[in-house]
Amino acid sequence: MLLAAPGPLADAVAVRLAPAAVIDPVDTATALAPLLGGDPVVAWLDAVPAVPGQPPVAATVAADITVRPLSGADPVAQADDLAAEIGRQAAGVGPRARLATEHVELGADRRYPVVVGRGAAAELPRLLPPGVKRVAIVTQQGIGFSVDPGVEHQVFVVEDGEEAKRFEVVADLASRFAQWGLTRRDAVVSVGGGVVSDLAGFVAATYHRGIAVVHVSTTLLGQIDAAIGGKCGVNLPEGKNLLGAFKQPAAVVCDIDSLLTLPPAELASGMGELAKYHFLGGGELDRLALPERVAACVRLKADVVAADETEGGLRAILNYGHTLAHALEIATAYELRHGEAVAVGLLYAAELARALGRIDAERVAEHRRVVELYGLRTRIPAGLDPDELIHLFTRDKKAVAGITFVLDGPNGVEPVVVEDTDLLRSVLETVA
Ligand code: NAD
Repeated sequence: MLLAAPGPLADAVAVRLAPAAVIDPVDTATALAPLLGGDPVVAWLDAVPAVPGQPPVAATVAADITVRPLSGADPVAQADDLAAEIGRQAAGVGPRARLATEHVELGADRRYPVVVGRGAAAELPRLLPPGVKRVAIVTQQGIGFSVDPGVEHQVFVVEDGEEAKRFEVVADLASRFAQWGLTRRDAVVSVGGGVVSDLAGFVAATYHRGIAVVHVSTTLLGQIDAAIGGKCGVNLPEGKNLLGAFKQPAAVVCDIDSLLTLPPAELASGMGELAKYHFLGGGELDRLALPERVAACVRLKADVVAADETEGGLRAILNYGHTLAHALEIATAYELRHGEAVAVGLLYAAELARALGRIDAERVAEHRRVVELYGLRTRIPAGLDPDELIHLFTRDKKAVAGITFVLDGPNGVEPVVVEDTDLLRSVLETVA
């Protein structure tokens, strides 16, 4: 049994197969394409876990084979519910398709590929720099995704969460690399989200004064943001990301299949960053299937990084929606996930831009449409003190003089200094 649909599983079509039918997802998607139009998304109702110990994305709705999801009194409504549930979980993960390769161009002959698509991790061996004999794979326990670099390798597991981004962990990894005999001609491969790529990137930047690193990014946020651009580092007790470097990877792999095991909250967190790219030149990103959407975001980020490798100016636009987001994360003691905070931050930035006469109501409505499209939060959590949020704005790293927001306007998204705190407070009411 499978469900197929054009786009993000709206208007899903249920196709019932004979029991025990064995079919190829790619062939099926190709066969269905003329019937459905567009690029069909195929979601399997499969009771057999695809990854040992991890339920496949669709199996969570039909893992119990005694449940017949479409055999109740109202199968059409049940199919709709099922399609919505699968769509939420799969978030548009589409059939295996061609891999897309974007490039981050850093001038002269400095460029690196970002390979995006289902099954992209199989490309890892050819993405390693020539001459690499050993690979240190840095990953976390809960990431149900493994890679084969095609050369001798050892897996180094680090703890989960921001806790892993500590200097002690850097020193420990470097010691273990040295004990194993990793040389400066070898490579580090990170397999994980932004925490792992930030940490592994920093170790690679400093071990033997720098060895090659390839990021295999397994979170949506990592694929469209953290793994690209070379920023890496760890936290200090005094603040986040205070110890770091710019270390451009040799390559980045965004295997869409790795997102299948991502918890919904992590997927939602990535969606906040995805929403942001709509306003950084992404246009109608929502018309693309997920692999193409990720590739489009990679291209947007790559362009910004190419124009401003070490964050001298333009790269600040990547912080669109982040001024309020950072304040909300601190004010809620990080209970609000980054992407959720960015979503409200985007709406706040849009309302502020309108209050300053930079954009019109229609453009604000487009921000709201996009944030709602991704099912993200549109209001700040109840009970937060507006004065505390305004105070936290001034602690934002972009606050050089006045409070610098990144705002939309006639020239696109750009940094704007806002000094009128009464205005900032009154605009907060639009997202309260
Ligand atoms: P994360 O790396 O903490 O990953 C979130 C959780 O998902 C973790 O528990 C992780 O183990 C798990 N996970 C990862 N991949 C999985 C998978 N495929 N299946 C199941 N579980 C999986 O969080 P994140 O949102 O990816 O990254 C956040 C970090 O990225 C922050 O530390 C932030 O500072 C950093 N960041 C860096 C940059 C940059 O430019 N360097 C940009 C944005 C964010």
